[in-house]
Amino acid sequence: MNLSLKPGREKSILKRHPWVFASALQTPDVNLASGTTVNLVAANGEFLAQASYSPHSQIRARVWTFEEEPVEKEFFRRRIKTAIALRDKLNVESGSNSYRLIHGESDGLPGLIVDRYADVLVLQALTAGAEFWKEILADLLVEETGIQTIHERSDADVRDLEGLLPQTGILRGDLSSFVLPIVEHGLKFKVNVAHGHKTGFYLDQRENRHRVGELAKDRDMLNCFCYTGGFSIHALAHGARSVLSVDSSADALTLLGENIALNDLPAERHTAIEGDVFQLLRRFRDEARSFDLIILDPPKFAPTAAHAEKAARAYKDINLLAFKLLRAGGVLVTFSCSGGVDAALFQKIVASAALDAGVDAAIIEHLSQGADHPVSLHFPEGAYLKGLVCIKK
Ligand code: SAH
Repeated sequence: MNLSLKPGREKSILKRHPWVFASALQTPDVNLASGTTVNLVAANGEFLAQASYSPHSQIRARVWTFEEEPVEKEFFRRRIKTAIALRDKLNVESGSNSYRLIHGESDGLPGLIVDRYADVLVLQALTAGAEFWKEILADLLVEETGIQTIHERSDADVRDLEGLLPQTGILRGDLSSFVLPIVEHGLKFKVNVAHGHKTGFYLDQRENRHRVGELAKDRDMLNCFCYTGGFSIHALAHGARSVLSVDSSADALTLLGENIALNDLPAERHTAIEGDVFQLLRRFRDEARSFDLIILDPPKFAPTAAHAEKAARAYKDINLLAFKLLRAGGVLVTFSCSGGVDAALFQKIVASAALDAGVDAAIIEHLSQGADHPVSLHFPEGAYLKGLVCIKK
């Protein structure tokens, strides 16, 4: 079936952006099953792309291909092979056995996330199109990777917007335990693929955790929003003097304790606090506590630009407090994974936090998601994770 765009609304597709909003279509509501492949055509009838139809979402169609090629199993096989070949070139497997294998739009597969944890794949189908092709995609993943086990974690909130119910469970093969041992830069972690956040682990921070390790030697570190201890484990392994890890999730802190033991790290140098970072930073300020290295890796405060203002206040609050707790010469590593706050805005927020804290600081490094989370040049929304390494003068 052909769906026609309104005159002039083909521009973003011609720039190879994969999303088509309902407002761009002449007739956005048609009687088509969720996930069906449609032809997108310009107002003059010219072919533009083939896309999956999402009847419930404001993003009414997502482009599979800008070519007039059959969208069927062999098409998806080519996309998956390309994604695998890219990771092979990146050499992500040196020292790590877990990484993102398929990163949605940026790998030409909108709505499909596949993370590899050692010998298990964890799949998220987040859109109508990915859901429609899920069984075929699962078959192809087994065929192309040789990995037999796929666990599904299609329980992200964004499925609501697509009119899809959450779905989790074993899709292929079997698992004797949902807690998997993985290796990252030579360090071991337990990942709970059934109940952990996202697909179980924040793989996007892999390279940044390694970098923080290098910065942590002989430092007193405060790791805010630590989850299962990614940054803490790397810091302890690299000779941090002390590490204090804070998270509101008791389950995450339990795994953090297990991860310390798993790596034979000096537990006496580590303290975990279950609590709210916003409150704890205030308490530490009142107690005049100080640190050499502070990590701020909060959850997504602004999923979309509509939440940006509220998110900006939250980012400013924690960054301001962190600058106050930092010793002279100390380093703040601060992140935002909010799609609704871009890199320029995030830097402005951190600058205004430093100003209000009365601190002179300089950026010494910009950080982002690892290369296994590529960003298509035609899909800038894919660049969600930004980090600043700031030194206090
Ligand atoms: N740095 C981690 C990932 C952090 S994800 C890593 O490398 O693996 C964000 C974490 O913030 C989650 O673990 C979540 O439980 C925690 N969190 C969310 N709100 C919080 C709050 N107000 N105080 C403390 N922790 C919070």
